[in-house]
Amino acid sequence: MKVMNASRVGFPCDRNLWYAVNNYAGKVNKKSQRIFDVGAAIEPVVIDWLNQDGWITFYNPGSQEAELELYAPIEGGKIGGHPDCFMSRQNCDNVLADIKTMNERSFINWKRRGTLEDKPQYADQLHCYAYAAKREGFPVDKLAIVGINKNTSDMHIDFFDYDYMRMNKIIERSERIFKLDTPPEPGDRIESWACSYCDYAEHCELCKHKRDTHVDNGALKTNDPDIVNAIELLKEARELSKAGKELEDDAKAVLDVRVRQQGIKSVSTGNYILDLTEIKSSRFDSTSFKKAHPEMIQDFMKNSSSVVYSIKESA
Ligand code: SF4
Repeated sequence: MKVMNASRVGFPCDRNLWYAVNNYAGKVNKKSQRIFDVGAAIEPVVIDWLNQDGWITFYNPGSQEAELELYAPIEGGKIGGHPDCFMSRQNCDNVLADIKTMNERSFINWKRRGTLEDKPQYADQLHCYAYAAKREGFPVDKLAIVGINKNTSDMHIDFFDYDYMRMNKIIERSERIFKLDTPPEPGDRIESWACSYCDYAEHCELCKHKRDTHVDNGALKTNDPDIVNAIELLKEARELSKAGKELEDDAKAVLDVRVRQQGIKSVSTGNYILDLTEIKSSRFDSTSFKKAHPEMIQDFMKNSSSVVYSIKESA
């Protein structure tokens, strides 16, 4: 019987899912495996944190060997997997939750935008568990991602509702992939990062990352991991800095209205003391200087050179 596992159902490539449901041997890269292992190791700690916060949890540890398996039949096979936990608290019963560890950038973006917008693959995963759980008679009132920031150990829970339309689309996609005898095109959900995180890249002739390293007229084509990692790191650093700037702007917008415009000079909150210091500054207006004294510009010019690294996604 073909099996669509909830943990991969949100992957944005139909072809990847086809290889998976047809039992092709997948090759998980070492970094992805380490990320998975760290996530699995942290799960019991997170369950403790949830319990300390008053949640009553039913934890289902393990992956393939987990005690509770939830699968539901669909045309051509079955769909489901092993949910991480059910949790309940006063006024918030029957929450089906998955625990995810994230790096700083990912956590900040997810917390700001929410699971449905920022991590739709997690929402799809939980929908599959919930679909199978409901069929088995488990009450499911809410879905949730419990996110952990690996850099700071911050924890945040994002709740959302089960969406029948979403689940219907997941089932339609899965049934369509079950029916195919040959690997399909990736489909319109494909994301630029998909091939680099694909366990089936070595089977796939469409993989964009199977490139030999060669230089052509100053342009290098390579999959050298050091270079690939450095580019990803630079991209991540820029996104982090952009997210940090947006957070700072959000915070300042509140403080401008609630503190500065009220004439307040200092705020004490118990944990923090915020001081407002007015700074007057003046700056040299080089544009006006150039206009006023074009003949002097050359005398004050200092030549230097630097390189701008700009990153865009490959077509
Ligand atoms: S290598 Fe890329 S196109 Fe091929 S199956 Fe994987 S994600 Fe899809």
